[in-house]
Amino acid sequence: MKSHLGHPVFSLLAETAQNNAIEAYVIGGFVRDILLHRPSKDIDIVVLGNGIEFAELLGAKLKTKVNVFKNFGTAMLRYNDLELEFVGARKESYRADSRKPIVEDGTIEDDQLRRDFTINALAISLNKDNFGQLVDPFGGVDDLDNRIIRTPLGPEITFSDDPLRMMRAIRFASQLNFSIDPEALAAITKQKERISIVSTERITDELNKIILSPIPSVGFNYLFDTGLLHIIFPQMANLFGVDIINGKGHKDNFYHTLQVLDNISLYTNDLWLRWAAILHDIAKPATKRFEEGHGWTFHGHEDKGSRMVPQIFAQLKLPLNEKMKYVQKLVQLHLRPIVLAQEVVTDSAVRRLLFDAGEDIESLMTLCNADVTTKNEYKVKKYRNNFELVKQKLKDVEERDKVRNWQPPITGQDIMDIFGIKAGKEVGLIKNAIREAILEGEIPNRYDQALEFMLNKGKEFGLTPITQQ
Ligand code: ATP
Repeated sequence: MKSHLGHPVFSLLAETAQNNAIEAYVIGGFVRDILLHRPSKDIDIVVLGNGIEFAELLGAKLKTKVNVFKNFGTAMLRYNDLELEFVGARKESYRADSRKPIVEDGTIEDDQLRRDFTINALAISLNKDNFGQLVDPFGGVDDLDNRIIRTPLGPEITFSDDPLRMMRAIRFASQLNFSIDPEALAAITKQKERISIVSTERITDELNKIILSPIPSVGFNYLFDTGLLHIIFPQMANLFGVDIINGKGHKDNFYHTLQVLDNISLYTNDLWLRWAAILHDIAKPATKRFEEGHGWTFHGHEDKGSRMVPQIFAQLKLPLNEKMKYVQKLVQLHLRPIVLAQEVVTDSAVRRLLFDAGEDIESLMTLCNADVTTKNEYKVKKYRNNFELVKQKLKDVEERDKVRNWQPPITGQDIMDIFGIKAGKEVGLIKNAIREAILEGEIPNRYDQALEFMLNKGKEFGLTPITQQ
């Protein structure tokens, strides 16, 4: 491992350890990432003794500020683009009602044993007599080779001590496409209810990391199979299942959603677009009906789904800001390009879609492409070809009419000023009528034509312009 410690900071660490007769090790994620060939800038250092004092010795040598977190017994310093965190080796024990351990000084092996997974419990010595040697008492390297998430301690104890580790196990499995050791998986299933002592923020943080992993269904399948999903995000677990009436079933919306999420993840790393994929069919269970002679329908699931978004965001402590609005909008509009792709694509339908989607039109098209999950090759080809047509049309109409981010040439204020009326129902009706006329292509997108249209419309309501009153 020596060759991986070529950065000058490691000889400085070794020198500090040697001069002060303190044992020190690099530990955790940094070591794991060396073996996975993933470069990392966060280095955790564990010393036998006082981590803060050690950090201050190194800080003095580097003439760098040391941030001390006395309550946690940790310290942090930056060196160029690296972030080093220091802690004394610990032995931990837990009580049933808290994630906060009782901490005592310990050996390096005690410290490795308190780590969550064997792949995160690897250490490299920074000491003179065995500098660069890997310290792997729990088989972390084998588990990396076999692509397995396993706990150093018995899994029941590990997950009971700190239930956040259940989410972390699934998150690492999803990020690395590893499998979770069957015993660990059984322990998570058994203790899933203990997730309730973890804060929503921490759970959602892990959930977002699962969503951002290369194949998010790996994590979601584990969340579902262990029963954790039912606790942390019941609306999504509720998508699971198929009802059959008169021999007719519908597709399983849980697995369909996972397929859409995996599909979209090939094209975007945007967390919120991935959230839109998760939520696009979220109201299908609530809107499901069996209609005689017709089969299963989910009428209005896009409206109801869009209305469910704020509540789900609040429940998961996701931000209630423009990101949420973006997700709502995509859920609301997700059927529109599909409907377009099935019909003759008229200019006015395209103009209307562009107006409603605005600058999110590309996101919407990405979502709709990902939503095509039929196994029928012929249908896939047909939809994809039609989407290409819709896309081409969108481009043409946008170039010609500039409808994206467009506002009608006559505002509500103009209407009030011209007719000398106060804000009210008529203003809204006239404004909508102008917008509709332009989107339908009845009049061009120009002020003079819109004005003429407005004066005629006003007449229908018995309004005359101020200049003629
Ligand atoms: P990433 O940076 O991808 O989140 P990481 O492994 O560096 O991965 P951190 O959360 O920074 O994750 O944790 C650093 C190390 O601390 C881990 O490698 C692990 O050894 C240990 N660790 C972190 N959280 C826990 C926990 N809840 N229980 C036990 N050990 C933990």
